[in-house]
Amino acid sequence: MPFQNRSHDFPLHADTSAVDNPDLAKATLNGLIEILLHDNLDFPRLKRVQVDGVFDRKLVHSIQYNRQTMKFFVRTYGCQMNVADSNEMSRHLAARGLVETVDPDDASVMLVNTCTVRQHAEDRAFSEIGRLRRWKAKQSGRKVVVTGCAAERTKEYLEDRFPFVDLVVGAKSIEDFGSMADRLLDRRATDEELDYAVPCVNDKIAAFVTIMRGCNYSCTYCIVPYVRGREIYHSMEQILGEVRDRVREGAREITLLGQTVNSYRSGDSRFADLLRAVAAVDGVDRVRFISPHPYYMTDRVIETMATVPEVCESLHLPVQSGCNTMLKAMARNYTREQYLGLVKKMRHAMPGMTLSTDIIVGFPGETEDDFRQTLSLIEEVQFDWGFVFKYSTREGTPAAKLGSYPEALIEERHQRCLELVDRIALAKRSKLVGTEQDVLVEESSFGRTRTNYKVHINGDVAPIALGEEVRLRIINAQRATLEGELQNGNVTFENFREKDADHARA
Ligand code: SAM
Ligand code: SF4
Repeated sequence: MPFQNRSHDFPLHADTSAVDNPDLAKATLNGLIEILLHDNLDFPRLKRVQVDGVFDRKLVHSIQYNRQTMKFFVRTYGCQMNVADSNEMSRHLAARGLVETVDPDDASVMLVNTCTVRQHAEDRAFSEIGRLRRWKAKQSGRKVVVTGCAAERTKEYLEDRFPFVDLVVGAKSIEDFGSMADRLLDRRATDEELDYAVPCVNDKIAAFVTIMRGCNYSCTYCIVPYVRGREIYHSMEQILGEVRDRVREGAREITLLGQTVNSYRSGDSRFADLLRAVAAVDGVDRVRFISPHPYYMTDRVIETMATVPEVCESLHLPVQSGCNTMLKAMARNYTREQYLGLVKKMRHAMPGMTLSTDIIVGFPGETEDDFRQTLSLIEEVQFDWGFVFKYSTREGTPAAKLGSYPEALIEERHQRCLELVDRIALAKRSKLVGTEQDVLVEESSFGRTRTNYKVHINGDVAPIALGEEVRLRIINAQRATLEGELQNGNVTFENFREKDADHARA
């Protein structure tokens, strides 16, 4: 038996040629190696695995995760920016030989990445951290790490209230997480250079890439500039390097991330130049970005979206309010009319585009009439979907000095606004029933359209390789998702045939 995989974590077989090297075998016996693995979809990728087995020159007799390997579990609260930060911290831990687990009981390191944008998000994270006292006590050597925006805002309070927490890393310090993890684990990365390039567990088809940190705006309700600091842009080189890394790990779709992502600049390059450069990276099929600010949706950005095929015709463009008095009080830097003009321009350039938004209800001083203007803007724009937030007072922001409405009033506006957004969203989704959509398969049972609708794939999807784009007929529309079915039983099979035919013709 040339290879025996004893690990249930890894239903894979190994390419023994990857270890067909006596020096490597010697050096890595009972250690970490990189090995080429194929999953059952024949999707090869490099993985860093812990080997606990016997080598000879040609064969790996056994390979498994060393039972002593430390595992880590990550809980992420908040926005995509936090998800991207969690991915980055996971890569640092993986570079130090730790393996991610989805079972907290199996973990030795628990990382809670917190959000503080609204009080509710912060409260949820804090109650989870409180429960970790018992988790930590159950096994010696366990570590608790708290990171992110709430950690930045309340570092001293956290350390005081939860003394069992081993490491607190604020949102401004995520880029230093590697060296902090070294101190926490009392160990070095197996290869310092590999921090970004390490082949690791992050093999998502749709990957996030952070292009900038912080925010130069001062929207009066928002805590983000305080906990994430002023804008810092990554260089084009660094971003493109990271995009290539994600593609090498299996990504086909890249979402560029930043608080005002389209304000990006680097030397003479602006956001539109970055979009083109990312779209040109080999292996990138789709490019998205979040969150753009209306002020920076320039003609060049719109033209790039409309003309570069890889850039998807879908935009999440937060409006926050439909009332000019509120927009001014929020310091949003645009008017209702300017926002509507922008929507018109974008829909003219990309008639099939989808548009979603964020809305805050119950901002201090918002009258019933102001609120109705938000409802009328939603009716007018017909957003494809939207997130409606109840205004939450954030201590230290300018709006915190304005007081706040009773919870019942905010709740009532929230319900009315949500009902409208959901009604329009469902009507728009329903119109897609019966149409055919190209869906990029992200997991065995779901994928996304270019317009960013999530589609559950009905029926037998076994033959579809993750990362394939398949054509589905939409058979059902729900509030948040669509349901689609493969055409003629098995579209992927036909796709393969088309590819084979192209290949034969070439
Ligand atoms: N930078 C993005 C922008 O300007 O559009 C948004 C970042 S913020 C993390 C995401 C959303 O949270 C905002 O668009 C806003 O609707 C909401 N939000 C921010 N602060 C809030 C607060 N104090 N209360 C309620 N919602 C808030
Ligand atoms: Fe907050 Fe405004 Fe910056 Fe967005 S643009 S992160 S809402 S301050």
